[in-house]
This record gives sequence, structure tokens and C-alpha cells, in this order.
Amino acid sequence: MAAVNSKRNALPKLENFRRIVVKVGSSLLVEKTGGLKEAWLKALVDDVATLHKAGADILVVSSGAIAMGRGVLKLGRRPLELEEAQAAASVGQIALARVWAEALAGHGIIAAQVLLTYGDTEERRRYLNARATLGTLLAHRAIPVINENDTVATQEIRYGDNDRLAARVGTMASADCVVLLSDIDGLFTAPPQKDPGAAFVPVVPRITAEIEAMAGGAASELSRGGMMTKIEAAKIATSGGATMLIANGTVEHPLRSVREGRRCSWFLSPSTPVTARKRWIGGTLEPRGTLSVDEGAASAMRAGKSLLPAGVRRVEGSFNRGDCVVVRSLEGGEIARGLVAYDAIDAVQIAGRSTRDIEAILGYSGRKEIIHRDDLVMSGDGAIG
Ligand code: GLU
Repeated sequence: MAAVNSKRNALPKLENFRRIVVKVGSSLLVEKTGGLKEAWLKALVDDVATLHKAGADILVVSSGAIAMGRGVLKLGRRPLELEEAQAAASVGQIALARVWAEALAGHGIIAAQVLLTYGDTEERRRYLNARATLGTLLAHRAIPVINENDTVATQEIRYGDNDRLAARVGTMASADCVVLLSDIDGLFTAPPQKDPGAAFVPVVPRITAEIEAMAGGAASELSRGGMMTKIEAAKIATSGGATMLIANGTVEHPLRSVREGRRCSWFLSPSTPVTARKRWIGGTLEPRGTLSVDEGAASAMRAGKSLLPAGVRRVEGSFNRGDCVVVRSLEGGEIARGLVAYDAIDAVQIAGRSTRDIEAILGYSGRKEIIHRDDLVMSGDGAIG
């Protein structure tokens, strides 16, 4: 089968990635009684700390808030109403954040709690905030411990599963690897509980209809999160330039086990986070306006710097913060495209002004760049089209 490649030496290595999202499911972390699986967590955190000490940035996406809160509120094992799940999440999240903070502190690592809603990752004006905060935490070598903000997320606008949330966090943070720790080894050609002939799939070079069919429909939803949501997560992660890994988390030291050769399923990406992001900004997004900049700003941008308000001479269009805008020279030639950090109405006011003056002009202290260099794609590097 074309999609299956079992050559061990062709597989990626966890230790070669520089920014890794590790997603931990509730059943791995929390006992049926609502108690914490302490020894397991400690072993996982040892693995995480090893990668972190070797220089990788790590983000943890941890479920378990509802499972832990359910125990405290004595809600038993029955299915919960949405309001009950939300109440359980708000009780459990405190304990969840504490156990991660304590476990990471054991290795001298700072933990940071980040609770995201669907809108924080999907609406670009909010997406820029979450992205900037994650970037700053990682620059300080902290490990963000992320969960969905279940307490405010309503049915229609929530992820509901942390597999897709982890993949979105991965693209948002430009991670090059997303690890989903699951209760099975990875992807099989058919649900292994039902089909004894199911073969293991160690690497998926591309997500095809054949691969989606392997995940099955509702049938494989037996396992938490389900293989379908993992394939959905793989589509998000790989199109964002990250490699995704499904590995068995039920063993002690799950990441070390993968490094030592335990079987797992890799989903390869055709690009890197940088090229995927550039293509998204330069080729996918419809520009909503134009910033015309002076020669000083243009050469600073060509040298890899951000665009500051001082270099902007003219603002056109009615765009919102987070929208894509075209950057042009005063003669009109296109220089770059980028995600703008201000609404048009504010951009007009700060154009040509020093960053120091932003607060006095707008009445709030916004970002010092009008387009941050990470959100900028220069014309001529092949990504604009
Ligand atoms: N956010 C939920 C929680 O922390 C879990 C979602 C999932 O298990 O994927 O309990």
C-alpha cells in the first residue's frame, strides 16, 4: 500500500524538533475515581524536561479538567449536561494547573496556564494576541499548559476535543511537531478492536481519502477523542507545516518509549511552519488594505525587521486588526504582505508617528510594530501569489 512505509530509518526523530506540542488526554492523567495518576505524570514530565533541557520549546495541551472536577463535585460516571461539564471544568482546572506547575517545578521549569476558546484560535484579531503571548512565554523558556476554556465555551463554538485544539495551538505557535498521546499505538488500516487483520501504519506521508477511511466513521469513536478527530487534527497540523505523531500514552515514559523505538504513527508535512505560514499570509488571505511606506521602512523590512508606524506614510482600505494588508513603496510597488496589528481607523492615526506616542494618540498601549516581522512575508520569496 502506497501510504504505508515501514522503513524505520525514514522516520522522523522526536529529538530533532525544535518546538513540540504534547497533548495529554484525560484518561491518561485521571483515574476513573477522579484521582490523579501521579506516577505517570511524573514520568511524562521527566520526558518533557529531557526534551526541554536539550533546547526544544514545549507546549502542553492537557485535558482532565472535567474528569478531575467531576470527582470533586461527586457527579459520578453519568453523562453530564453542558452546564455540569462547565462547572466541573472550572473546579478541575485549578487542580489540573497545580499538578502541572508542581511537576514541572520539580525540574526547575516554569509553567503557565493558558485557557483558549475556539474564537481565540480562529478569529485573527484574537489569534494574534494568543500567538504573541505563547511566543513570549516560550522566549522565557516557560511551558504553557493549555486547555480549552470549557467554562465559557458553548456547544456551537467549542472544540470539545483537545486533539484539534492541540493542532491549532501547534500552527498558532509555529510548532514543528504535535504529539497526541493516545490510548492506542497509532493508526491502523481498520479499527483493531473489530478487525484482527488490521495492520499498523507507522507513517502517513499525506492524508488521502484512503487514510481517512482507515480512521473509520463512528465505529472507531470508541476510543476517546476517536481516530477521526485525530485525522482532523493531523490535517490541521500538517497543513500548518508541523509533523504530527500519535503515540501510546498508557505506558510510563511515553516520549522516551518513542525515542527508544516503540511503534507510533507519524503524519508528515509537505512544508515547514515558516513556509506554511508565509503561504497562508501571502497566498491564501485576501488583502483588506494597503500601507504605503517610506524607503527607510522598506529597507528595514528587507533586512528582516518589523514595520513600525513611523515608516508608514499612507493607509488605505477598511481593515481590522489581524487582517492581511499589502505593503507598498511610495511609488506603488508591492514590497510585502502581512497581518496588521491595528484596525484601519487606528492605523491612520499612528501612521508616521513614533512608537512612543501610540498610547497618547490612541488612549491605549498597542503593539509597537504595525506589522510584526513574524507576520510579514516579503514579495519575491515565492510565497505571494
Ligand atoms: N477540555 C476537556 C477537559 O479538560 C477535555 C477535552 C478532551 O478530552 O479532548 O476536561
